[in-house]
Amino acid sequence: METAKKIFIPVSLFQLFSIGIGPSSSHTVGPMRAAYQFASLLQQEKKLSSVARVSVELFGSLAMTGHGHATDIAILLGLEGEKPEEIDPDSVQGKIDSIKERQILNLLGVSPIAFSIETDLLFIKGKRLPFHSNAMKCKAFNAAGEEVFAKTFYSVGGGFVVDHEEVFSHDKKEETVSVSIPYPFHTGQQLLDLCQKTGLSISEIMFENEKSWRSEEEIYSGIWRIWEVMKGCVERGCQQQGILPGGLNVARRAYDLHQDLSQKNGIEDPSEIFDWVSLFALAVNEENAAGGRVVTAPTNGASGVIPAVLHYYERFTPNSSKEGIYKFFLTAAAIGILYKEGASLSAAEMGCQGEVGVACSMAAGGLAAALGATPSQVENAAEIGMEHNLGLTCDPVGGLVQIPCIERNTMGAIKAINAARLALKNKSDYKVSLDQVISSMRQTGEDMNSIYKETSEGGLALHVTVGLPEC
Ligand code: SF4
Repeated sequence: METAKKIFIPVSLFQLFSIGIGPSSSHTVGPMRAAYQFASLLQQEKKLSSVARVSVELFGSLAMTGHGHATDIAILLGLEGEKPEEIDPDSVQGKIDSIKERQILNLLGVSPIAFSIETDLLFIKGKRLPFHSNAMKCKAFNAAGEEVFAKTFYSVGGGFVVDHEEVFSHDKKEETVSVSIPYPFHTGQQLLDLCQKTGLSISEIMFENEKSWRSEEEIYSGIWRIWEVMKGCVERGCQQQGILPGGLNVARRAYDLHQDLSQKNGIEDPSEIFDWVSLFALAVNEENAAGGRVVTAPTNGASGVIPAVLHYYERFTPNSSKEGIYKFFLTAAAIGILYKEGASLSAAEMGCQGEVGVACSMAAGGLAAALGATPSQVENAAEIGMEHNLGLTCDPVGGLVQIPCIERNTMGAIKAINAARLALKNKSDYKVSLDQVISSMRQTGEDMNSIYKETSEGGLALHVTVGLPEC
């Protein structure tokens, strides 16, 4: 039996925060990347022109909730050579209509082949591949019907994709991927020890590591670009009215809330700050549900938490600054890496703990850092942010990233602000470390019944049936 190896590849801030399209990082962004990778490999292997047919089989959670998460659309686009970070969300429908109508897929945009969505893109429900629930097998055939190339990919959460060989390679030399970053860390304690030893803050450690990939200027401008995309997403979400796609008939709420809040003369009641935070999160997650442009943070389902907390920081905290925003992103990314390495960002493995839970923890740590916290206060804030999301299930109604996802981001954002404030005001020793909570989260995720892990077979998905589209 094959055994998977643990892969430690340094992760950059720009992988955790990547610009893409909704509604899901594991079910839309990841499969699009995998399909693009498959078509690119065909080209590299000089097989593209001999391919007469491709087929894609989806397993596990991808098969169960792929329709509601637009996995089919993402795969078609990826095979045609589209990338999540570059595609114009407004062009998607036209491209898909054209493939369906003509029954022709243009591999990498240069090699047209016949393609039937009914027979070449298969959702194998009830079957899971051993390594990960989000698995897809891509195969290419020549005109004689012989298989000429095949690859199995796993979409492991947050838009990250690994292929089967990468995971199951037994070449000992590949067991440890060489790490070229100056300050590698795999646990919260290692991160705190690095801060203690170097006198650097968590954001400064991350910044030094990021310099292994790009120049200081590129880091700053890249972070700013991410922030601008997040702000653009909030603005767009506040302007859109109507019903979200998918058949659940969920009405957008951000527009009306924005109208209400904007008509007031400043903050009339202090609790209105909560309404603003909720508004920022609703706006992002409604855009995500509509397949709009969002930043994976660290997933699409949870993409509203961090922008909402950052807007709160910028708008409602005294002395907010550009430097604080950089600190926020760098610190949040360091925390996200700890979850990616110590547990998972995949709801198919961890339930919603791995999405909104992680986003809440990252946002809590990021906000604390921006407000001047010490490394240990940041660690405490991140720990609190996850501690009160332990056990959070993933049970999206109708397989769509709408109920409970959109509202859940408002909860995650407000909880993150509270976690940061609790950590900043704490004057005594805290009892639970970030590493302990990450281990607890991983264990809870492993013990969680699969019906609560992005399969839409339990919880709200089972009990809320009113308004569901007909199968
Ligand atoms: S319930 Fe949470 S994890 Fe599941 S799809 Fe919604 S946001 Fe993602």
